[in-house]
Amino acid sequence: MSAHPRSGFAMPSVFSHAVAACALGTAFRNNETTAPVLVLGALCSVVPDIDVISFALGIPYEHVLGHRGLTHSLPFAAAFATILVSLLSTFGTTQRFSALWVYFFLATASHGVLDAMTTGGLGIAFFAPFDSARYWMPWRPILVSPIGASSFFSDRGAQVIANELLWVWLPALVFTVLVLPFRRNGTR
Ligand SMILES: [Zn+2]
Repeated sequence: MSAHPRSGFAMPSVFSHAVAACALGTAFRNNETTAPVLVLGALCSVVPDIDVISFALGIPYEHVLGHRGLTHSLPFAAAFATILVSLLSTFGTTQRFSALWVYFFLATASHGVLDAMTTGGLGIAFFAPFDSARYWMPWRPILVSPIGASSFFSDRGAQVIANELLWVWLPALVFTVLVLPFRRNGTR
């Protein structure tokens, strides 16, 4: 499926968003981004696409509540990280909340950043709800991902997977390999 500006997903696949979030997590200390925290980070990285329900609700793509609008913004990432950390603190986790907040914020925000590097759809409302303008990254090498399993396993799907391996998974792997030797436990 083509990424028509008014229909369909326009994003790297959920797997690539999750891989990017887990790679980011390796930049934190062992006792900060534990395995369960990385899983939550992966969740953060896919939550912004909850706004695809806007298509079913008839909300225009370019609307602040449309796809790539409010839920893809930096203020949303900050709010979502705050909610998540509040929930974790309620359940008595012992991790440092400031580090957790920064990680969840980065993991959520990474979604919009990757979307802003794709070749199709509309730009990202990074500053919604304060500014509904849509923005792109200056460099956009990532092919938009098709919607649905049938198109995902088509030729176009194979092309998208190869593209994401190159532009998301490979940089994530390189980042992790460079950062992991410095990852350690700490009690800052
Ligand atoms: Zn998205």
